Amino acid sequence: MKRRRLLFSILTVLLSISFIASAIPAGAQRTNQRQRTTQPTQRPSTSTRSARDEALWQRALAIHRRAIVVDTHNDVTTPMTNDDYDLSGNPPYPYRTNIDRLKKGGVTGLFFSLYIKPWYVKNGGAARRTLDMIDSVYRAAERHPNDLMLATSAADIRHAKAQNKIACLMGIEGGHAIENSLPTLREFYRLGVRYMTLTWNNTNDWADARGDNTHNGLTDFGKEVVREMNRLGMLVDISHVSDKTMSDALDVSKAPVIASHSSARAISNVARNIPDDLLKRIAKNGGVVQVNFYSLFVDQKTVAPQSDERGKRLQAQQEALSVKYANDPERLAEESDKLEAQNPLPPLPISKLIDHIDHIVKIAGIDHVGLGPDFDGANDFPEGARDESMLPNITYELLKRGYSEQDIDKILGGNLLRVFGQAEMVARKMSRTISGGGSTRRIGK
Ligand SMILES: [Zn+2]
Repeated sequence: MKRRRLLFSILTVLLSISFIASAIPAGAQRTNQRQRTTQPTQRPSTSTRSARDEALWQRALAIHRRAIVVDTHNDVTTPMTNDDYDLSGNPPYPYRTNIDRLKKGGVTGLFFSLYIKPWYVKNGGAARRTLDMIDSVYRAAERHPNDLMLATSAADIRHAKAQNKIACLMGIEGGHAIENSLPTLREFYRLGVRYMTLTWNNTNDWADARGDNTHNGLTDFGKEVVREMNRLGMLVDISHVSDKTMSDALDVSKAPVIASHSSARAISNVARNIPDDLLKRIAKNGGVVQVNFYSLFVDQKTVAPQSDERGKRLQAQQEALSVKYANDPERLAEESDKLEAQNPLPPLPISKLIDHIDHIVKIAGIDHVGLGPDFDGANDFPEGARDESMLPNITYELLKRGYSEQDIDKILGGNLLRVFGQAEMVARKMSRTISGGGSTRRIGK
C-alpha cells in the first residue's frame, strides 16, 4: 500500500485536511542523505543485530523448510502488470519480490494482490484493471513452470509443496473491482481469485472503509456480496474495512474470514489494525489474522512522527509528481514510491513485529494468526523482515520466544490452510456449481 499511501498524504495535504492517525503515511527522513538507496536488502538470514544462536538458527531453518509457508498479501502484481515483470531477475526498483527470494524464504503459497486503485472508480475500468492483473499472474506461472504453479485451493498449496513449487494464488484488494455486480464477482472466482478485501482505503457503494461511516458498515448489497463469496468459496477479507464493516461481515459470513494483511491495534494504534474485541470475534468465527509487516502498522508511536516529517519534507516533490502524472495513476504511484523508497525511515527491530503475533495469540489464540507482510505494497519494514527471503527470521524469532514447532507451523501457514479448507467446505454445502442459485443482482449503473 505504499505508493497509495504517499499519494493519499499528498492529496491530504493538498486538501489541507489534517492527518488522521490511521493509514496515511506521509514520511520522513534525513534530508540530504541520498546515499542509502533503498535497494531491498538481499541478505536472507540477517536476523537481528544481536549475535545469532547458531543451533537455534539451524533448527529454525529446518522447521521453516519443512513447513507450509503462506504469505497472503504481496503487491508485486503491480509491476508485473505495468512493466511485464515476470518475477525472474532483479525486480524493478523499488520492488523487492522475485522467485529467488521467494525460494530463499521458503514460501509455499503466495497470494498476489490484485490492488485496484480508487482512480478506476472515478475514471472507469476497475474490472478491466483486475483482469489485466490476473493475466500478469497467469503469465508469470506460464513462464516459470518449474518454479511456479497457479493455485486455487488449499489442496493446490499442498501439491505445490510436494512438487517443490510456489503456489500462486490471487486476492482482489478493493471490492470496487467487481463494479457492483455479483456476476462479475463470479467471473473473478472462475478465473481463480480466492479472496476479496471488501474495501481498500476507499469506501465503495456497499461497504465502509477504515475510519469511515457512510453506510454504517455493510449495505444490504454488501451483505449479499459476502453471502455470494461464501457460496463460491472465496475468502472474505476484512483488512482495510471499518470496524462496523468487520463486525457486519462477521455477522453475515457462514465461513471463517481472513484479514489478509492487518496487525493488532492494541500494540499499534492505527485504524488499519484490528482491535481486541474484533480479534476475539474473529477467533469465534474460526478466522485468521495475517500480520502486516509495514512499519507504520507495526509501531505507530515511533513511526508516525517520522513518517509525517518525511511527508512534509517531500511534499513539494510529491506535488510536482501529482501534477506531472495527473492522468496516469500507475506511473504516479510508482514515482511516488521511488521517492519514498529513496528516503527510508529508520529501521525498527523485528521484535516489534513479533509482539503483534504474541498479542494476537494472547487475545485470539494460536489458531488465529498468520503472515500477510504486504511486501511491495509499502516501503518501510522492520529490520530482518524486509522481503520474502527473510521469512526464516520470523521462525527463528518465534523459537526464541518459546513457540513450539507445532505452533510455528500454524502461524506460517497451517492456520490459513485450515480456514481456506473450511471456506471450501461451506461453499460445497451451499452450492454444487459456481452459478448455483447465485443472484444476478447489480447495483447502480
Ligand atoms: Zn492493503
